[in-house]
Amino acid sequence: MNEETTRKFKKRLETLRDEILKVIDWKESASEAGEAMDEIDQANELIEKEMGFVMSFNMRNNLNEVQEALDRISNKKFGACANCGAEIALKRLEILPFARFCTTCQEKVEARAR
Ligand SMILES: [Zn+2]
Repeated sequence: MNEETTRKFKKRLETLRDEILKVIDWKESASEAGEAMDEIDQANELIEKEMGFVMSFNMRNNLNEVQEALDRISNKKFGACANCGAEIALKRLEILPFARFCTTCQEKVEARAR
């Protein structure tokens, strides 16, 4: 993956991380943050859009996923499948920037989980 593409994903992941942190903060101090609702709605919207079907409403879990993807960028391992090492299709990363496995391995993992 070229540097520009990696940078683009990094920016997206960092934005996503900030938005998740915002929601976590808000949830933990919910009583005093009534006036921040609009901002939280916006954050939720973006997170839902970015996390798509993996949206679990478990924000800490989501945060870990995003943080790990950012770590992979720092380690120059971003875009490589954590299982077989193959390059994850760019199309898949566009939808799921924090994807850990290539499509083939993801299917195997999901089959095992069933
Ligand atoms: Zn793989």
